Amino acid sequence: MTAATGRDPRYDVLFEPVRLGPVTTRNRFYQVPHCNGMGYRDPSAVARLRGIKAEGGWGVVCTEQAEIHHTSEITPFIELRIWDEADLPALARTTAAIHEHGALAGIELAYNGMNGPNLMSREVPLGPSHLPIATFTADPVQARAMDKTDIANLRRWHRNAALRARDVGFDIIYVYAAHGFSIFQHFLSRRANTRSDEYGGSLKNRVRLLREVIEDTVEAVGATSAVAVRLAVDEMIGPAGIHKAEAEEVIGLLADLPDLWDLTLSGWENDSRTSRFAGEGAEEAFVTGLKQLTSKPVVGVGRFTSPDAMVRQVTKGVLDLIGCARPSIADPFLPNKIAEGRLDDIRECIGCNMCVSGDMTMSPIRCTQNPTMGEEWRRGWHPERIAPKANDARVLVVGAGPAGLEAARALGLRGHDVTLAEATRDLGGRVHREARLPGLAAWGRVRDYRVGQIDKLANIAVFRESRLTADDVLGFGVSHVVLATGSHWRRDGVARFHLEPMAFSEGVEILTPDDLMAGRLPMGEAVTLYDDDHYYMGSVLAERLVAAGKRVTFVTPASEVANWTQATLEQGHIQRRLLELGVEIITARAVSGAGGGEVETICTYTARPRRHAADALLLVTARLPDDALYHALMAAHADWPTAGITNITRIGDALAPATIAAAVYAGHRFARELGTEPVIDTPPFLREVAALAD
Ligand code: ADP
Ligand code: SF4
Repeated sequence: MTAATGRDPRYDVLFEPVRLGPVTTRNRFYQVPHCNGMGYRDPSAVARLRGIKAEGGWGVVCTEQAEIHHTSEITPFIELRIWDEADLPALARTTAAIHEHGALAGIELAYNGMNGPNLMSREVPLGPSHLPIATFTADPVQARAMDKTDIANLRRWHRNAALRARDVGFDIIYVYAAHGFSIFQHFLSRRANTRSDEYGGSLKNRVRLLREVIEDTVEAVGATSAVAVRLAVDEMIGPAGIHKAEAEEVIGLLADLPDLWDLTLSGWENDSRTSRFAGEGAEEAFVTGLKQLTSKPVVGVGRFTSPDAMVRQVTKGVLDLIGCARPSIADPFLPNKIAEGRLDDIRECIGCNMCVSGDMTMSPIRCTQNPTMGEEWRRGWHPERIAPKANDARVLVVGAGPAGLEAARALGLRGHDVTLAEATRDLGGRVHREARLPGLAAWGRVRDYRVGQIDKLANIAVFRESRLTADDVLGFGVSHVVLATGSHWRRDGVARFHLEPMAFSEGVEILTPDDLMAGRLPMGEAVTLYDDDHYYMGSVLAERLVAAGKRVTFVTPASEVANWTQATLEQGHIQRRLLELGVEIITARAVSGAGGGEVETICTYTARPRRHAADALLLVTARLPDDALYHALMAAHADWPTAGITNITRIGDALAPATIAAAVYAGHRFARELGTEPVIDTPPFLREVAALAD
């Protein structure tokens, strides 16, 4: 949006080409492999997504994992497959989309070994040893220990897949040994590999299979494609797991065999920590010094959104290539914006892992910051381009939370005259409030990016401290009104367990998250926090209460704290943090009453009651839309024509409370669709329906 001022010479180093074996990347911006929940099911959507990254300036754009053989697949998760020729047309679409914009295409070949339950193929999984499958879902399946024939087969399968990948146009072909998702890591791991033959025991033996497969791959495709190794350098479980000293030995043994080293933390929940648990560049300590063990380029990640931080990685000799997954999701045009000197147009990743939840729920990727993510093909949404307005509608947006801010921004970009009215002094709505809670500061970027963009658009007028009534709205003289007035937390215990309101007696102070966010803390010391929301809010407020010196008892009807954060890879981090903070955790129980200095809970299986002492009860339950203004305007429907109003729409939490990502998406969608005929009887998006076999 800003006029191009040209690149700051400080960032020149990021735009240097880097040689990767037989190929050369045009710059150091490297989109590392990342999942998207679309994979083999949505091939055109994936191709478009990757093509847009290339258009946005990334030098390398990689696929997510591509399963190389039907004997190792991770159903129900949806990744890519390169099992045989049948998979190639879909992959060719992706390489073509990437090449069209001058980037190199990389593919992460994967054989998941003891991480693949093979629920679809029903083959017996293979691993270094006889061990249970290590999936998120603890499938009742074991991998069997491979014999020499299995090893020979695996090497051939990997080689064949590499040849197919080369033939379909991939410039970089991975040997994947990371995230706990790959058989080559399982062989490296002293814990998983208990073999007594030449593939087990000493590190030299445990590296053998990885070495052989790298050699096979280089021999097969190395003349035209770079061979990358993605290596887990630390499993973060101490010396029992792969750790830095061991990774140093592995790299020392293999040094210059591959064309590129891609260094990661393992498992995925450590590699993709949210901003609540790790800041930008948090992997640096784990990879520093590893580059010095090889003459080949090294790529690593760190949720890099700042070009200065990126430059430091290169000048300090930590990394050669700046690996990004999430920053490239939040802003596919990050490299171009740096190239054009448009740093304040960068849409910085907030580190929430909503993107990861797409993969974990097998649904198309979504991003809190970038509402077009996953919608590039099926809705034709481009992250940087939006159609000019279809008519001259003037729009009043009420409420400057994520939904209202995004609606105003995108409507403004289309050229509409927009008025944005916000009741409070602060823009950002729930994001403004939540960003002040422990660990959530980066979430303020949802507000900051939008406010920054809105400030640049002369056709958007922003009014703060303007709580509008129905009469105010009727007096505005606009044709379209968007109500993005948000929601509030319930005070009656209704959520998933209780669908009927609870009655509370005197003697226990009742609070909601809104009270805490408004600065009100419980008066007493003993606080029971009842979390029937199961996302982040309960645990974040538990941290807040502990910081305020309260004794916190965390009650949840689920069998673990913050259950849904499995989908954001945070659950283990959250439960550990609460335990370390001394929070008492009570699972599989629901609060059933409070009064007289006690809270009653019942077992979710037997309904057996129990009481414990409490001064206060914090209810993190459901929310209700703040839709009073909407209903007042509906009641005044007869006055709309005189007021010139044709349309009043609720969006975001004011329609139905959900995630911040959903609110941003709702605002964006409204702006995109203004002036078009609504499609409601058929899907308003493209989809690919499997072709029937003969
Ligand atoms: P969402 O997530 O849907 O964007 P939020 O709760 O974050 O919702 O934001 C709603 C915003 O709307 C809040 O900043 C709130 O102060 C503002 N708001 C609510 N009612 C009114 C009103 N009548 N006039 C102006 N602003 C309002
Ligand atoms: Fe970043 Fe969140 Fe978007 Fe993922 S969903 S890219 S973590 S802002």
